[in-house]
Amino acid sequence: MAVTGLQATTGPKHRVGILGGTFDPIHVGHLMMAEAVRDEYGLEEILFIPAATPPHKPASQVTAAHHRYLMTVLATCSNPHFRVSDIEMKRPGPSYSIDTVYALQRERGEDTEFFFLIGTDVIAEIATWDRVEELLGLCRFIAASRPGAEPDLARLRRELGGLGAERIHPLATPELSISSTDIRQRVRRGASIKYIVPAAVEQYIKKEGLYR
Ligand code: ATP
Repeated sequence: MAVTGLQATTGPKHRVGILGGTFDPIHVGHLMMAEAVRDEYGLEEILFIPAATPPHKPASQVTAAHHRYLMTVLATCSNPHFRVSDIEMKRPGPSYSIDTVYALQRERGEDTEFFFLIGTDVIAEIATWDRVEELLGLCRFIAASRPGAEPDLARLRRELGGLGAERIHPLATPELSISSTDIRQRVRRGASIKYIVPAAVEQYIKKEGLYR
């Protein structure tokens, strides 16, 4: 385990990562980046949090939350550090990350420091998130490399000032050119998704007839 900087000799005892997403479906890009960040930052746990109602995606285009939740459980169950939280599925209305982090802080107490995992593609949209400055004050963001999305730190600084640059840390991780959009398109045209999603997720998609 390579624990990168940012660790303190005093302060919170537990370091927990949060990976929010639509997970429609979850794929090996999500799993690989989560494991790479976990290892690099010495996080004891990564919470995968499927959004019930993603604020930035039209509800009609998103698969029912219970399917996305179950696929996330199937994909993560073999990793003892990965856990799936239904916290956003139990909350009505748009799934804002800030509300999730406040709820997790209340649940875990002051002994836990949260790290918010994103792909570098999200850096470009982060300034539009609900109460993003407050959110940056609550937890550090780790941005894992995603092909075709160079972290634009100058833009970050323009849009969010010093706070963006101080609280969002790009991390070079192995890059996989995989997206849920591409997987949905592959299923629709009858192409293989083997090895792009875990076998159990592939079987679940087939069994439930998703993305046809
Ligand atoms: P879609 O294609 O439907 O927009 P997606 O593949 O981007 O979906 P999300 O569930 O929206 O998946 O992503 C959740 C989080 O995981 C985001 O922070 C996103 O940047 C990150 N992520 C997704 N795929 C990758 C990948 N291949 N490499 C690194 N990060 C990724």
